[in-house]
Amino acid sequence: MDARDVKDLALDVGFDLVGITEPQPGHPIPWTRSVIVLGLATLDEAFDYQMFLAYEGKRRWYKPIYTALEALSARLARRLREQGWQAEPLTFEDSLAYVDLRAAAVAAGLGVRGKNNLVVTRRYGPQVRFGAVFTSADLARDRPLHDYFCPSCTLCWNACPTGALGPGGFVRDLCLAEFRPTREMAARQEQALPRLTRTTRLQCIACLTACPIGRKVVVETWHDFREG
Ligand code: SF4
Ligand code: SF4
Repeated sequence: MDARDVKDLALDVGFDLVGITEPQPGHPIPWTRSVIVLGLATLDEAFDYQMFLAYEGKRRWYKPIYTALEALSARLARRLREQGWQAEPLTFEDSLAYVDLRAAAVAAGLGVRGKNNLVVTRRYGPQVRFGAVFTSADLARDRPLHDYFCPSCTLCWNACPTGALGPGGFVRDLCLAEFRPTREMAARQEQALPRLTRTTRLQCIACLTACPIGRKVVVETWHDFREG
């Protein structure tokens, strides 16, 4: 199996984008020779709902996109192991320690770093989330893209409700999508972000949905009808 076969396998298990790069400095799995960077298009807001459940002294947190990425990455890793390679999927808990996913996605040629501080892909714009599988297979690397196709439209800056994006760059302290907010930001999130249920809240995605790149992708609903 070569890099092309591995990419076909990734698309076959359900990813929309795939590229290959090398492990970043300090990568903790010694046998890793290649990092397979995987993109899943997130063309519906429901991917970005977050569930904050507390009951009987327990705290649970779920976000559909991470569940989907982990499940597909685990499936790809299993298929690679069946080929005789070592392969480990990235889990959400490990993600910060194992890889800078945005840097890896750019290095693997999946997109460019946009003015919204996100990776902007050619087909789906910034409406993509990334996962990874680490493997002992020594696969041909992809290269970063040369053309910078995030133009000077600044629609993402204008869409940001807090001024976290602008000519001065990204101001993390102002971003409503902050994962570990200060108490002040948590209160702001409570006020600004819509709830689907008592414990489920939509993350701010205004800078993603404002981006015109990727709008050419037509998204419809579908039904799985029973025969007869
Ligand atoms: S997630 Fe929301 S608050 Fe954060 S930069 Fe994007 S639009 Fe601004
Ligand atoms: S909205 Fe415009 S400036 Fe922002 S990421 Fe998309 S193309 Fe780039």
